[in-house]
Parts: sequence; C-alpha cells; structure tokens
Amino acid sequence: MTTAIVHHPIYREHETGEGHPERPERYEVVMAALRGDEQLWPQLLEVQAGAATRGAVQACHTPQHYKTIERVVSEGTGYLDSDTIVSMRSMDAALTAAGGVCRAVDAVMKSEANNAFLPVRPPGHHATAERAMGFCLFNNVAIGARYAQTHPEIERVAIVDWDVHHGNGTQGIFYDDPSVFFFSMHQYPWYPGTGARGETGVGRGRGYTLNIPVRAATRAQEQRSMLDAALEEMSQRFKPDIIFISAGFDAHEADPLGQLLLTDEDFTLMTRAVKQWAASACQGRVISCLEGGYNLGTLGGTVRSHVRELMAE
Ligand SMILES: [Zn+2]
Repeated sequence: MTTAIVHHPIYREHETGEGHPERPERYEVVMAALRGDEQLWPQLLEVQAGAATRGAVQACHTPQHYKTIERVVSEGTGYLDSDTIVSMRSMDAALTAAGGVCRAVDAVMKSEANNAFLPVRPPGHHATAERAMGFCLFNNVAIGARYAQTHPEIERVAIVDWDVHHGNGTQGIFYDDPSVFFFSMHQYPWYPGTGARGETGVGRGRGYTLNIPVRAATRAQEQRSMLDAALEEMSQRFKPDIIFISAGFDAHEADPLGQLLLTDEDFTLMTRAVKQWAASACQGRVISCLEGGYNLGTLGGTVRSHVRELMAE
C-alpha cells in the first residue's frame, strides 16, 4: 500500500495563544514521529498541500462565514468564539488544511496513493456551515467530501468520526443529504452536547447519520465492539465510493480533553476495521484527517500507529 502524507509547514503557523491546547506543537510532534520512524517514513509519499479555492470552501460554508474569518484574521488576533482564536496566518492555514484534503482526494483518485493521512491544523469537524467553533474554522473533511463528489467516479461518501467530541459541524452540513453517510462515535454527554442516538438525519437524509454515544470511562474493548457493530450496520445499508476518517486522537486514555480509554493498539485495530470496509466497498480509498488529540507526549506515537496501519498490506 502507498500512503500519502499531505501537509504544509503553514499548519504550524496558526497561533492560538499561550496555554491553548490546540497549539502549533501538535503538528510538530506528529511530523517528528513520522519522520523519525526510519522504517516508515521512506515508504510514505510526501505531498505538499495547497490552498482550497473559495468555491470549494463555499460548497460547505456560507459566503458570510468565509468573509467573517477573512475579516477577523485581517484585523490581527481575535476570537471567533470563546475558545476559537485566530492570528495573522490562520486564514492561510485554514485554507491549506481544507485544500490539503482536496489534494489527498486527487492523490487517491489518480492512484498516486491508496490512502492518505493529513496532520492538519486547524481542525475542522465542529465548524458548521455558518460559523467557527471548538478550535475549528473550516470543516476540512466536509469540504473534502464535497470536493470528492466532483470526481465522476464518486457519488457516495462515508465519514467515520472517532474524535472524542461529536462532529456536530459535519453532521449539520450533511444532515439532509443521503449521498454522505456521517457516523460519529464520541464521549457523551460531553462537548458540544449534540450526538445523541436519536439524531439520525432529516428529510431524504434520514437514516444517513449514525451516532454512537459512549459513556466516560467505557472499557476500550467495549468501545471497539461498538465501532465494529456500527461499521457492520453501515456496510449493510450504504456502499461508499470513498471513506473519510475524522481522526481525532483525543479519545486516547492519556488525553487531557477526554475521558475515554483507547490506546495506540485500539487505534490500530479501528484503522484496520475502517480499511476492511474500504477494501470491500471502494478499492481501499481512505482519507484520514487529523482532528483533536492534545497530549503532546503521546500524540505522535498514536498517529504513527495509525499511519503504520494505513500503510499495512
Ligand atoms: Zn475532539
């Protein structure tokens, strides 16, 4: 398997201020862990991300939202919500995060790579069509999903969100859309408060959103069984042409922003399970995009386990 790592040094330049957990070092520890692995790194395909077009962003966000971020960033450091902070390079970083996901789609569709991982900052899954929230400016995975649908071979997209927080933004963007199946497994109740079992979509999208709430301190093995059951249920109802992972690693047992108990080994097994679905449904096409993960001491190792498994035969 060829796994692409699509990234850009600008992911480090989105400054969030002293003491903020979503900090530039997150990108640095992930890249150091990948580059420092002498077996893994030479086998990966490094691809440089470019900026998303305004049109690609506005396929998921209102023009007003785009303008608001542009304006706040141009004014210097500012708050988009109580914990979403931007600085001078944040617009470029956010556009390059979303653009990276589009580039990863192209890499997989042109068979440059079988799958891809992106260590993006800022993250995206809390960003709604209308606003930034929860450290997220533009919804990277949602923009990538819409972009993928511009390829003639891609009609149906599945998104697997295993971040410890519910992917409310992604859910909202596709809530009435039967062409994008959104699945989230997350600690519940927890930030941002959404993601109950009963949230399953509306209109033609009913049945194309699946939420698996997980209680704090649930045993890891039990949580993995919940994921396996959900993947089984989805694979019977939906055949995607490509699968995205909203890969938050804040459900790790060592993470300061969550209370779930997953280990590096659990993330490896979860990665394998998603790959198996992709192998049977869509020629193995998987685009995995970093969301949360805030323990700087463990994040690099966890991502390395994930990427090793993406690359495994
Ligand atoms: Zn999170």
